[in-house]
Amino acid sequence: MTTPLNSNSLQDSAPGTSPVATDEPPLRVMALHALLYCERLFYLEEVEEIRVADANVYAGRRLHDDVVPLDDESPEQRSMELASETWGLLGKVDAVRRRDGAWVAYEHKKGRCRRGDDKQVLPWPSDRIQAVAYAVLLEEELGEPVSQARIRYHADNVTAFVEIDESAKRDLRQAIERACELRRTAERPPVTENERLCKSCSLNVVCLPEEERLADAGEPHTPTLFPSNRERHTLHVVAHKAYVSRSGETLVVKTDDDKQSVPIQQIDAVVIHGYGQMTTQAIHLCAHHGVSVGWMSRGGRFIAGTSASPGRVQQRIRQYHALTEPENCLRLSCALVRAKVESQLRYLMRGTRGNKGARNSCRQDIGLIREALRKIDGAATLDSLRGLEGISAKAYFASLPLLLGERVPDEMRPHGRSKHPPRDRFNCLLSFGYGMLHGLVHRTLLGVGLEPAFGFFHQPRTAAPPLVLDVMEIFRTPLVDMPVVGSVNRAQWHQDDDFVIARGHVWMSDQGRKKAIALFEQRLEESYKHPHTGQSLSYVRMVELEARLLEKEWTGSPGLFAQLRMR
Ligand code: SF4
Repeated sequence: MTTPLNSNSLQDSAPGTSPVATDEPPLRVMALHALLYCERLFYLEEVEEIRVADANVYAGRRLHDDVVPLDDESPEQRSMELASETWGLLGKVDAVRRRDGAWVAYEHKKGRCRRGDDKQVLPWPSDRIQAVAYAVLLEEELGEPVSQARIRYHADNVTAFVEIDESAKRDLRQAIERACELRRTAERPPVTENERLCKSCSLNVVCLPEEERLADAGEPHTPTLFPSNRERHTLHVVAHKAYVSRSGETLVVKTDDDKQSVPIQQIDAVVIHGYGQMTTQAIHLCAHHGVSVGWMSRGGRFIAGTSASPGRVQQRIRQYHALTEPENCLRLSCALVRAKVESQLRYLMRGTRGNKGARNSCRQDIGLIREALRKIDGAATLDSLRGLEGISAKAYFASLPLLLGERVPDEMRPHGRSKHPPRDRFNCLLSFGYGMLHGLVHRTLLGVGLEPAFGFFHQPRTAAPPLVLDVMEIFRTPLVDMPVVGSVNRAQWHQDDDFVIARGHVWMSDQGRKKAIALFEQRLEESYKHPHTGQSLSYVRMVELEARLLEKEWTGSPGLFAQLRMR
Protein backbone atom coordinates (compact mmCIF):
# COMPACT_ATOMS: atom_id res chain seq x y z
CA MET A 1 0.00 0.00 0.00
CA THR A 2 1.12 3.53 -0.61
CA THR A 3 0.20 7.10 0.03
CA PRO A 4 -0.67 9.27 -2.95
CA LEU A 5 1.83 11.82 -4.13
CA ASN A 6 1.11 15.10 -2.40
CA SER A 7 0.73 17.29 -5.46
CA ASN A 8 0.29 20.45 -3.39
CA SER A 9 3.85 20.20 -2.18
CA LEU A 10 5.29 19.82 -5.67
CA GLN A 11 6.02 22.33 -8.35
CA ASP A 12 6.65 21.82 -12.01
CA SER A 13 10.14 22.46 -13.28
CA ALA A 14 10.98 23.16 -16.89
CA PRO A 15 11.01 19.99 -18.99
CA GLY A 16 14.43 19.35 -20.48
CA THR A 17 16.32 20.64 -17.46
CA SER A 18 17.48 18.18 -14.81
CA PRO A 19 15.30 18.28 -11.68
CA VAL A 20 18.45 17.39 -9.68
CA ALA A 21 20.93 20.27 -9.33
CA THR A 22 24.36 19.62 -10.85
CA ASP A 23 26.09 19.83 -7.46
CA GLU A 24 23.75 17.22 -5.93
CA PRO A 25 24.23 13.46 -6.14
CA PRO A 26 21.82 11.47 -8.33
CA LEU A 27 18.79 9.86 -6.73
CA ARG A 28 18.24 6.13 -6.56
CA VAL A 29 15.00 5.04 -8.20
CA MET A 30 14.32 2.96 -5.08
CA ALA A 31 14.44 6.20 -3.09
CA LEU A 32 11.50 7.51 -5.14
CA HIS A 33 9.63 4.34 -4.26
CA ALA A 34 10.25 5.11 -0.57
CA LEU A 35 9.19 8.75 -1.10
CA LEU A 36 5.80 7.74 -2.49
CA TYR A 37 5.34 5.19 0.28
CA CYS A 38 6.06 7.66 3.09
CA GLU A 39 8.11 10.86 3.00
CA ARG A 40 9.52 10.10 6.42
CA LEU A 41 10.77 6.72 5.18
CA PHE A 42 12.50 8.46 2.28
CA TYR A 43 14.11 10.90 4.71
CA LEU A 44 15.31 8.23 7.14
CA GLU A 45 16.83 6.17 4.33
CA GLU A 46 18.22 8.81 2.02
CA VAL A 47 19.12 11.68 4.32
CA GLU A 48 19.87 9.93 7.59
CA GLU A 49 21.27 6.87 5.81
CA ILE A 50 19.39 4.42 8.02
CA ARG A 51 18.66 1.25 6.11
CA VAL A 52 17.36 -1.91 7.69
CA ALA A 53 17.19 -4.93 5.44
CA ASP A 54 14.40 -6.95 7.01
CA ALA A 55 12.95 -10.30 5.93
CA ASN A 56 10.61 -8.63 3.42
CA VAL A 57 13.43 -6.70 1.81
CA TYR A 58 15.47 -9.89 1.47
CA ALA A 59 12.44 -11.73 0.12
CA GLY A 60 12.03 -8.98 -2.47
CA ARG A 61 15.67 -9.31 -3.49
CA ARG A 62 15.40 -13.05 -3.86
CA LEU A 63 12.34 -12.52 -6.01
CA HIS A 64 14.33 -10.29 -8.31
CA ASP A 65 17.20 -12.73 -8.54
CA ASP A 66 15.37 -16.01 -8.79
CA VAL A 67 11.85 -15.55 -10.09
CA VAL A 68 12.39 -13.27 -13.03
CA PRO A 69 14.07 -15.72 -15.38
CA LEU A 70 11.67 -18.52 -14.42
CA ASP A 71 8.65 -16.36 -14.83
CA ASP A 72 9.09 -15.32 -18.43
CA GLU A 73 9.54 -17.41 -21.53
CA SER A 74 11.67 -15.00 -23.48
CA PRO A 75 13.61 -12.60 -21.36
CA GLU A 76 15.78 -10.51 -23.64
CA GLN A 77 17.50 -8.91 -20.72
CA ARG A 78 17.25 -10.16 -17.17
CA SER A 79 18.09 -6.87 -15.45
CA MET A 80 19.83 -3.70 -16.43
CA GLU A 81 21.76 -0.93 -14.64
CA LEU A 82 20.50 2.46 -15.80
CA ALA A 83 21.51 6.06 -15.13
CA SER A 84 20.65 9.47 -16.56
CA GLU A 85 22.17 12.88 -16.01
CA THR A 86 19.10 14.46 -17.57
CA TRP A 87 16.84 13.00 -14.92
CA GLY A 88 19.45 12.80 -12.14
CA LEU A 89 18.48 9.19 -11.51
CA LEU A 90 20.12 5.78 -11.33
CA GLY A 91 18.82 2.31 -10.68
CA LYS A 92 18.53 -1.27 -11.81
CA VAL A 93 15.38 -2.39 -13.63
CA ASP A 94 14.30 -5.99 -12.99
CA ALA A 95 13.89 -6.95 -16.64
CA VAL A 96 13.71 -5.44 -20.12
CA ARG A 97 11.70 -7.17 -22.81
CA ARG A 98 10.45 -6.55 -26.30
CA ARG A 99 6.67 -6.72 -26.64
CA ASP A 100 4.69 -6.01 -29.84
CA GLY A 101 7.79 -4.50 -31.40
CA ALA A 102 8.55 -2.09 -28.54
CA TRP A 103 10.73 -2.19 -25.45
CA VAL A 104 9.00 -2.59 -22.08
CA ALA A 105 10.43 -2.12 -18.56
CA TYR A 106 9.34 -4.87 -16.14
CA GLU A 107 9.20 -4.74 -12.35
CA HIS A 108 8.39 -7.70 -10.08
CA LYS A 109 6.66 -7.30 -6.73
CA LYS A 110 6.14 -9.97 -4.12
CA GLY A 111 2.87 -8.50 -2.79
CA ARG A 112 -0.62 -7.78 -4.05
CA CYS A 113 -1.74 -5.18 -6.55
CA ARG A 114 -4.08 -2.27 -5.90
CA ARG A 115 -7.69 -2.70 -7.09
CA GLY A 116 -9.83 -0.02 -8.70
CA ASP A 117 -13.55 0.50 -8.05
CA ASP A 118 -14.48 -2.19 -10.55
CA LYS A 119 -11.69 -4.46 -9.33
CA GLN A 120 -9.35 -3.67 -12.20
CA VAL A 121 -5.65 -4.28 -11.61
CA LEU A 122 -3.79 -1.08 -10.72
CA PRO A 123 -0.25 -0.35 -9.57
CA TRP A 124 0.40 1.25 -6.17
CA PRO A 125 1.58 4.86 -6.61
CA SER A 126 5.09 4.04 -5.28
CA ASP A 127 5.39 1.08 -7.68
CA ARG A 128 4.06 3.21 -10.53
CA ILE A 129 6.60 6.00 -10.05
CA GLN A 130 9.37 3.42 -9.90
CA ALA A 131 8.19 1.83 -13.16
CA VAL A 132 7.89 5.25 -14.84
CA ALA A 133 11.43 6.10 -13.74
CA TYR A 134 12.86 2.88 -15.18
CA ALA A 135 10.96 3.41 -18.42
CA VAL A 136 12.32 6.93 -19.00
CA LEU A 137 15.85 5.78 -18.13
CA LEU A 138 15.47 2.88 -20.54
CA GLU A 139 14.20 5.20 -23.25
CA GLU A 140 17.29 7.36 -22.89
CA GLU A 141 19.63 4.36 -22.74
CA LEU A 142 18.22 2.68 -25.87
CA GLY A 143 17.42 5.83 -27.84
CA GLU A 144 14.00 4.37 -28.65
CA PRO A 145 10.59 5.29 -27.28
CA VAL A 146 9.40 3.23 -24.29
CA SER A 147 5.69 3.82 -23.97
CA GLN A 148 4.83 1.20 -21.39
CA ALA A 149 6.09 -0.38 -18.17
CA ARG A 150 4.62 -3.47 -16.53
CA ILE A 151 4.53 -4.53 -12.89
CA ARG A 152 4.04 -8.17 -12.04
CA TYR A 153 2.33 -8.74 -8.65
CA HIS A 154 3.22 -12.29 -7.70
CA ALA A 155 0.85 -12.68 -4.74
CA ASP A 156 -2.10 -12.04 -7.11
CA ASN A 157 -0.41 -13.44 -10.20
CA VAL A 158 -1.48 -10.41 -12.22
CA THR A 159 0.28 -7.68 -14.22
CA ALA A 160 -0.43 -3.95 -13.97
CA PHE A 161 0.25 -1.77 -17.01
CA VAL A 162 1.71 1.72 -16.69
CA GLU A 163 1.46 4.14 -19.60
CA ILE A 164 4.51 6.36 -20.05
CA ASP A 165 2.89 9.56 -21.28
CA GLU A 166 3.47 13.25 -20.54
CA SER A 167 1.38 13.05 -17.39
CA ALA A 168 3.53 10.16 -16.06
CA LYS A 169 6.72 12.07 -16.83
CA ARG A 170 5.38 15.17 -15.09
CA ASP A 171 4.62 13.10 -11.98
CA LEU A 172 8.14 11.70 -12.08
CA ARG A 173 9.67 15.15 -12.33
CA GLN A 174 7.58 16.40 -9.40
CA ALA A 175 8.57 13.41 -7.28
CA ILE A 176 12.27 14.04 -7.99
CA GLU A 177 11.89 17.70 -7.07
CA ARG A 178 10.17 16.82 -3.81
CA ALA A 179 12.94 14.33 -3.02
CA CYS A 180 15.57 17.01 -3.62
CA GLU A 181 13.62 19.44 -1.45
CA LEU A 182 13.56 16.92 1.41
CA ARG A 183 17.26 16.15 1.00
CA ARG A 184 18.04 19.82 1.68
CA THR A 185 16.01 20.14 4.88
CA ALA A 186 17.21 19.27 8.38
CA GLU A 187 13.69 18.46 9.57
CA ARG A 188 12.36 14.91 9.61
CA PRO A 189 8.91 14.78 7.97
CA PRO A 190 6.10 13.76 10.36
CA VAL A 191 4.94 10.15 10.68
CA THR A 192 2.38 9.14 8.08
CA GLU A 193 -1.30 9.38 8.94
CA ASN A 194 -1.86 5.99 7.34
CA GLU A 195 -0.99 3.69 10.28
CA ARG A 196 -1.29 0.56 8.13
CA LEU A 197 1.82 1.55 6.20
CA CYS A 198 3.91 1.44 9.36
CA LYS A 199 3.15 -2.23 10.05
CA SER A 200 5.07 -3.36 6.99
CA CYS A 201 7.67 -0.59 7.01
CA SER A 202 11.23 -1.86 7.44
CA LEU A 203 12.15 1.19 9.54
CA ASN A 204 9.33 1.11 12.08
CA VAL A 205 11.77 0.12 14.87
CA VAL A 206 13.79 3.24 14.15
CA CYS A 207 10.93 5.61 13.41
CA LEU A 208 8.77 4.60 16.44
CA PRO A 209 5.57 5.94 14.87
CA GLU A 210 3.31 4.54 17.57
CA GLU A 211 5.27 6.18 20.37
CA GLU A 212 5.05 9.48 18.48
CA ARG A 213 1.30 9.16 17.95
CA LEU A 214 0.97 8.21 21.61
CA ALA A 215 2.79 11.38 22.60
CA ASP A 216 0.60 13.48 20.32
CA ALA A 217 -2.72 11.94 21.29
CA GLY A 218 -2.07 11.17 24.95
CA GLU A 219 -4.43 8.20 24.61
CA PRO A 220 -3.87 4.82 26.21
CA HIS A 221 -2.41 2.61 23.52
CA THR A 222 0.36 0.05 23.70
CA PRO A 223 2.90 0.25 20.88
CA THR A 224 3.52 -3.08 19.21
CA LEU A 225 6.01 -2.36 16.45
CA PHE A 226 9.14 -2.18 18.62
CA PRO A 227 10.43 -5.77 19.15
CA SER A 228 10.28 -6.77 22.81
CA ASN A 229 13.62 -8.54 22.79
CA ARG A 230 16.78 -8.56 20.74
CA GLU A 231 17.25 -11.15 18.02
CA ARG A 232 21.02 -11.42 18.33
CA HIS A 233 23.43 -11.64 21.24
CA THR A 234 26.64 -10.04 22.41
CA LEU A 235 29.84 -12.04 22.06
CA HIS A 236 32.04 -11.44 25.11
CA VAL A 237 35.68 -12.46 24.68
CA VAL A 238 37.15 -12.89 28.13
CA ALA A 239 40.17 -15.21 27.88
CA HIS A 240 43.54 -13.50 28.27
CA LYS A 241 45.08 -14.84 25.05
CA ALA A 242 41.92 -15.06 22.97
CA TYR A 243 42.33 -14.55 19.24
CA VAL A 244 39.31 -13.56 17.12
CA SER A 245 39.59 -14.14 13.38
CA ARG A 246 37.30 -14.47 10.39
CA SER A 247 36.33 -17.52 8.41
CA GLY A 248 33.81 -16.64 5.72
CA GLU A 249 30.74 -15.17 7.43
CA THR A 250 31.82 -16.52 10.82
CA LEU A 251 33.89 -15.21 13.70
CA VAL A 252 36.31 -17.78 15.11
CA VAL A 253 37.42 -17.37 18.72
CA LYS A 254 40.54 -19.34 19.67
CA THR A 255 41.90 -19.69 23.18
CA ASP A 256 44.64 -21.95 24.59
CA ASP A 257 42.24 -24.83 25.05
CA ASP A 258 39.18 -24.02 22.98
CA LYS A 259 37.97 -22.94 19.55
CA GLN A 260 34.47 -21.66 18.81
CA SER A 261 32.83 -20.43 15.62
CA VAL A 262 29.92 -17.98 15.76
CA PRO A 263 28.00 -16.91 12.62
CA ILE A 264 28.01 -13.14 12.32
CA GLN A 265 24.21 -13.10 11.90
CA GLN A 266 23.86 -14.28 15.51
CA ILE A 267 25.84 -11.40 17.00
CA ASP A 268 24.83 -7.81 17.75
CA ALA A 269 28.16 -6.75 19.31
CA VAL A 270 31.61 -8.08 20.20
CA VAL A 271 33.14 -7.04 23.52
CA ILE A 272 36.79 -7.86 24.19
CA HIS A 273 37.68 -7.84 27.88
CA GLY A 274 41.38 -7.37 28.55
CA TYR A 275 44.01 -8.23 25.99
CA GLY A 276 42.34 -10.53 23.46
CA GLN A 277 43.34 -9.89 19.83
CA MET A 278 41.09 -9.41 16.81
CA THR A 279 42.18 -9.47 13.19
CA THR A 280 41.46 -6.65 10.73
CA GLN A 281 39.45 -9.09 8.63
CA ALA A 282 37.25 -9.90 11.62
CA ILE A 283 36.72 -6.18 12.33
CA HIS A 284 35.80 -5.64 8.67
CA LEU A 285 33.24 -8.46 8.87
CA CYS A 286 31.69 -6.85 11.95
CA ALA A 287 31.62 -3.41 10.33
CA HIS A 288 30.02 -4.81 7.21
CA HIS A 289 27.20 -6.36 9.25
CA GLY A 290 26.67 -3.38 11.55
CA VAL A 291 28.14 -5.27 14.52
CA SER A 292 29.96 -2.90 16.87
CA VAL A 293 33.20 -3.93 18.57
CA GLY A 294 34.09 -2.67 22.05
CA TRP A 295 37.22 -3.03 24.14
CA MET A 296 37.04 -3.10 27.94
CA SER A 297 39.83 -3.17 30.49
CA ARG A 298 40.04 -6.26 32.66
CA GLY A 299 38.65 -4.12 35.46
CA GLY A 300 35.50 -3.44 33.41
CA ARG A 301 36.37 0.08 32.21
CA PHE A 302 35.18 0.93 28.72
CA ILE A 303 38.21 1.81 26.56
CA ALA A 304 37.04 2.21 22.96
CA GLY A 305 34.50 1.01 20.44
CA THR A 306 33.78 1.01 16.75
CA SER A 307 30.78 2.76 15.31
CA ALA A 308 28.35 0.79 13.20
CA SER A 309 26.70 3.94 11.93
CA PRO A 310 28.94 6.24 9.91
CA GLY A 311 27.35 9.25 8.30
CA ARG A 312 23.93 10.41 9.51
CA VAL A 313 25.05 14.00 9.35
CA GLN A 314 21.57 15.57 9.53
CA GLN A 315 20.75 13.50 12.58
CA ARG A 316 23.82 14.81 14.39
CA ILE A 317 23.26 18.40 13.29
CA ARG A 318 19.82 18.23 14.92
CA GLN A 319 21.37 16.83 18.09
CA TYR A 320 23.95 19.63 18.20
CA HIS A 321 21.28 22.28 17.70
CA ALA A 322 19.04 20.82 20.41
CA LEU A 323 21.77 20.29 22.98
CA THR A 324 23.31 23.72 22.60
CA GLU A 325 20.02 25.22 23.84
CA PRO A 326 20.37 25.74 27.62
CA GLU A 327 16.59 25.37 28.19
CA ASN A 328 16.61 22.00 26.42
CA CYS A 329 19.56 20.81 28.50
CA LEU A 330 17.91 21.86 31.74
CA ARG A 331 14.57 20.29 30.83
CA LEU A 332 16.17 16.98 29.84
CA SER A 333 18.44 17.00 32.87
CA CYS A 334 15.47 17.52 35.21
CA ALA A 335 13.72 14.51 33.65
CA LEU A 336 16.90 12.45 33.87
CA VAL A 337 17.73 13.27 37.49
CA ARG A 338 14.12 12.75 38.54
CA ALA A 339 14.15 9.30 36.92
CA LYS A 340 17.40 8.33 38.61
CA VAL A 341 16.52 9.67 42.07
CA GLU A 342 13.01 8.21 42.02
CA SER A 343 14.40 4.79 41.10
CA GLN A 344 16.93 4.98 43.92
CA LEU A 345 14.24 6.01 46.40
CA ARG A 346 11.85 3.27 45.29
CA TYR A 347 14.59 0.65 45.51
CA LEU A 348 15.53 1.65 49.05
CA MET A 349 11.85 1.68 50.08
CA ARG A 350 11.20 -1.68 48.47
CA GLY A 351 14.38 -3.25 49.83
CA THR A 352 13.61 -2.27 53.42
CA ARG A 353 9.90 -3.06 53.30
CA GLY A 354 9.00 -5.31 56.22
CA ASN A 355 12.39 -4.79 57.86
CA LYS A 356 11.78 -2.28 60.64
CA GLY A 357 15.40 -2.02 61.70
CA ALA A 358 16.68 -1.34 58.19
CA ARG A 359 13.87 1.12 57.46
CA ASN A 360 14.64 3.05 60.65
CA SER A 361 18.33 3.10 59.82
CA CYS A 362 17.79 4.60 56.38
CA ARG A 363 14.98 6.97 57.39
CA GLN A 364 17.26 9.98 57.43
CA ASP A 365 18.73 9.15 54.00
CA ILE A 366 15.26 8.59 52.57
CA GLY A 367 14.29 11.99 53.93
CA LEU A 368 17.27 13.59 52.18
CA ILE A 369 16.43 11.88 48.89
CA ARG A 370 12.78 12.95 49.15
CA GLU A 371 13.79 16.52 49.80
CA ALA A 372 16.14 16.49 46.79
CA LEU A 373 13.34 15.02 44.69
CA ARG A 374 10.96 17.83 45.66
CA LYS A 375 13.47 20.46 44.57
CA ILE A 376 14.35 18.98 41.18
CA ASP A 377 11.59 20.66 39.19
CA GLY A 378 12.48 24.04 40.65
CA ALA A 379 16.20 23.77 39.84
CA ALA A 380 17.13 26.86 37.82
CA THR A 381 20.58 25.75 36.68
CA LEU A 382 22.42 22.57 35.81
CA ASP A 383 24.79 23.16 38.71
CA SER A 384 21.96 23.23 41.24
CA LEU A 385 20.58 20.06 39.67
CA ARG A 386 23.98 18.40 39.97
CA GLY A 387 24.02 19.41 43.63
CA LEU A 388 20.66 17.73 44.23
CA GLU A 389 21.75 14.62 42.35
CA GLY A 390 24.95 14.49 44.44
CA ILE A 391 23.05 14.77 47.74
CA SER A 392 20.70 12.02 46.70
CA ALA A 393 23.48 9.71 45.47
CA LYS A 394 25.40 10.13 48.73
CA ALA A 395 22.32 9.27 50.78
CA TYR A 396 21.45 6.32 48.53
CA PHE A 397 24.91 4.72 48.73
CA ALA A 398 25.02 5.32 52.47
CA SER A 399 21.87 3.22 52.87
CA LEU A 400 22.43 0.66 50.10
CA PRO A 401 24.31 -1.77 52.44
CA LEU A 402 21.10 -2.02 54.49
CA LEU A 403 19.61 -4.04 51.64
CA LEU A 404 22.16 -6.81 52.21
CA GLY A 405 20.87 -9.68 54.33
CA GLU A 406 22.22 -10.69 57.71
CA ARG A 407 23.99 -13.73 56.28
CA VAL A 408 26.17 -11.73 53.92
CA PRO A 409 29.75 -11.97 55.26
CA ASP A 410 31.62 -8.80 56.06
CA GLU A 411 34.05 -9.43 53.16
CA MET A 412 31.19 -8.96 50.70
CA ARG A 413 29.85 -5.75 52.27
CA PRO A 414 30.77 -2.27 51.03
CA HIS A 415 32.77 0.12 53.14
CA GLY A 416 31.65 3.39 51.62
CA ARG A 417 31.64 3.99 47.87
CA SER A 418 35.04 3.59 46.20
CA LYS A 419 35.37 3.76 42.42
CA HIS A 420 38.83 4.21 40.92
CA PRO A 421 39.92 1.69 42.01
CA PRO A 422 37.33 -0.17 44.06
CA ARG A 423 38.59 -1.10 47.53
CA ASP A 424 36.17 -3.87 48.43
CA ARG A 425 34.41 -6.70 46.63
CA PHE A 426 30.98 -5.05 46.61
CA ASN A 427 32.33 -1.87 45.00
CA CYS A 428 34.31 -4.00 42.57
CA LEU A 429 31.05 -5.62 41.43
CA LEU A 430 29.32 -2.24 41.09
CA SER A 431 32.23 -0.75 39.11
CA PHE A 432 32.43 -3.72 36.78
CA GLY A 433 28.67 -3.56 36.21
CA TYR A 434 28.78 0.18 35.48
CA GLY A 435 31.59 -0.47 33.00
CA MET A 436 29.45 -3.05 31.22
CA LEU A 437 26.52 -0.63 31.22
CA HIS A 438 28.77 2.10 29.84
CA GLY A 439 29.80 -0.13 26.93
CA LEU A 440 26.18 -1.09 26.21
CA VAL A 441 24.91 2.50 26.24
CA HIS A 442 27.86 3.68 24.15
CA ARG A 443 27.29 1.19 21.36
CA THR A 444 23.52 1.70 21.56
CA LEU A 445 23.89 5.46 21.06
CA LEU A 446 26.21 4.91 18.11
CA GLY A 447 23.82 2.33 16.74
CA VAL A 448 20.87 4.74 16.73
CA GLY A 449 23.06 7.45 15.20
CA LEU A 450 23.54 9.80 18.17
CA GLU A 451 26.87 11.42 18.97
CA PRO A 452 27.99 10.14 22.39
CA ALA A 453 30.34 13.07 22.96
CA PHE A 454 27.51 15.59 22.98
CA GLY A 455 25.41 15.36 26.13
CA PHE A 456 23.15 17.61 28.18
CA PHE A 457 23.82 16.91 31.88
CA HIS A 458 27.37 15.67 32.33
CA GLN A 459 30.24 17.98 31.59
CA PRO A 460 32.73 17.09 28.83
CA ARG A 461 35.59 17.00 31.30
CA THR A 462 36.64 13.39 31.35
CA ALA A 463 37.44 10.82 28.70
CA ALA A 464 33.94 9.38 29.10
CA PRO A 465 31.47 10.67 26.47
CA PRO A 466 28.89 12.84 28.32
CA LEU A 467 25.81 11.50 26.54
CA VAL A 468 26.76 7.96 27.56
CA LEU A 469 27.02 9.08 31.19
CA ASP A 470 23.67 10.86 30.85
CA VAL A 471 21.71 7.90 29.52
CA MET A 472 23.45 5.50 31.92
CA GLU A 473 21.87 7.30 34.87
CA ILE A 474 18.45 5.86 34.07
CA PHE A 475 19.77 2.30 34.17
CA ARG A 476 22.31 2.23 37.01
CA THR A 477 19.82 1.06 39.62
CA PRO A 478 17.82 -1.49 37.61
CA LEU A 479 20.69 -2.95 35.57
CA VAL A 480 23.56 -2.91 38.05
CA ASP A 481 22.66 -2.10 41.68
CA MET A 482 19.69 -4.44 41.91
CA PRO A 483 21.33 -7.51 40.33
CA VAL A 484 24.52 -6.98 42.36
CA VAL A 485 22.66 -6.69 45.67
CA GLY A 486 20.50 -9.68 44.72
CA SER A 487 23.49 -11.84 43.76
CA VAL A 488 25.35 -10.99 46.97
CA ASN A 489 22.27 -11.85 49.01
CA ARG A 490 22.03 -15.16 47.14
CA ALA A 491 25.68 -15.88 48.00
CA GLN A 492 26.58 -16.21 44.32
CA TRP A 493 30.14 -14.96 44.81
CA HIS A 494 33.17 -16.77 46.09
CA GLN A 495 35.11 -14.22 48.05
CA ASP A 496 38.51 -15.75 47.20
CA ASP A 497 38.12 -17.31 43.75
CA ASP A 498 36.04 -14.55 42.14
CA PHE A 499 38.24 -11.62 43.16
CA VAL A 500 41.89 -10.60 43.11
CA ILE A 501 43.13 -8.30 45.86
CA ALA A 502 46.35 -6.38 45.37
CA ARG A 503 47.61 -3.52 47.54
CA GLY A 504 44.13 -2.76 48.84
CA HIS A 505 42.57 -2.71 45.37
CA VAL A 506 40.01 -5.31 44.38
CA TRP A 507 39.56 -6.68 40.84
CA MET A 508 37.52 -9.46 39.32
CA SER A 509 39.36 -12.74 38.70
CA ASP A 510 38.85 -14.49 35.34
CA GLN A 511 36.20 -16.68 36.94
CA GLY A 512 34.54 -13.72 38.64
CA ARG A 513 34.55 -11.71 35.41
CA LYS A 514 32.70 -14.49 33.59
CA LYS A 515 30.13 -14.65 36.36
CA ALA A 516 29.68 -10.86 36.36
CA ILE A 517 29.21 -10.80 32.57
CA ALA A 518 26.65 -13.62 32.83
CA LEU A 519 24.79 -11.73 35.58
CA PHE A 520 24.65 -8.58 33.46
CA GLU A 521 23.58 -10.37 30.28
CA GLN A 522 20.93 -12.30 32.17
CA ARG A 523 19.53 -9.04 33.53
CA LEU A 524 19.42 -7.57 30.03
CA GLU A 525 17.13 -10.39 28.93
CA GLU A 526 14.63 -9.81 31.74
CA SER A 527 11.61 -7.83 30.69
CA TYR A 528 9.94 -4.89 32.29
CA LYS A 529 6.83 -2.88 31.46
CA HIS A 530 7.64 0.62 30.31
CA PRO A 531 5.47 2.89 32.49
CA HIS A 532 4.68 5.34 29.71
CA THR A 533 4.29 3.23 26.60
CA GLY A 534 2.86 0.28 28.57
CA GLN A 535 4.98 -2.08 26.48
CA SER A 536 6.78 -5.03 28.07
CA LEU A 537 10.38 -5.00 26.84
CA SER A 538 13.63 -6.70 27.72
CA TYR A 539 16.04 -4.30 29.41
CA VAL A 540 18.40 -4.38 26.46
CA ARG A 541 15.58 -3.17 24.20
CA MET A 542 14.62 -0.63 26.85
CA VAL A 543 18.10 0.95 26.58
CA GLU A 544 17.64 1.30 22.82
CA LEU A 545 14.11 2.62 23.24
CA GLU A 546 15.31 5.33 25.67
CA ALA A 547 18.02 6.37 23.19
CA ARG A 548 15.42 6.68 20.44
CA LEU A 549 12.95 8.48 22.72
CA LEU A 550 15.72 10.89 23.67
CA GLU A 551 16.13 11.80 20.02
CA LYS A 552 12.40 12.39 19.78
CA GLU A 553 12.81 15.17 22.35
CA TRP A 554 14.15 17.33 19.52
CA THR A 555 12.40 15.74 16.53
CA GLY A 556 8.84 16.66 17.37
CA SER A 557 7.64 14.42 20.23
CA PRO A 558 9.07 15.66 23.55
CA GLY A 559 8.09 14.28 26.95
CA LEU A 560 8.73 10.55 26.44
CA PHE A 561 12.38 10.33 27.51
CA ALA A 562 13.39 9.18 31.03
CA GLN A 563 9.97 8.00 32.16
CA LEU A 564 11.34 4.63 33.28
CA ARG A 565 10.91 4.01 37.01
CA MET A 566 11.36 1.07 39.31
CA ARG A 567 8.09 -0.18 40.72
S1 SF4 B 1 7.17 3.61 10.35
FE1 SF4 B 1 5.43 4.65 9.32
S2 SF4 B 1 5.84 6.86 9.57
FE2 SF4 B 1 7.74 5.77 10.01
S3 SF4 B 1 8.86 5.75 8.09
FE3 SF4 B 1 7.73 3.83 8.15
S4 SF4 B 1 5.78 4.25 7.15
FE4 SF4 B 1 6.71 6.23 7.59
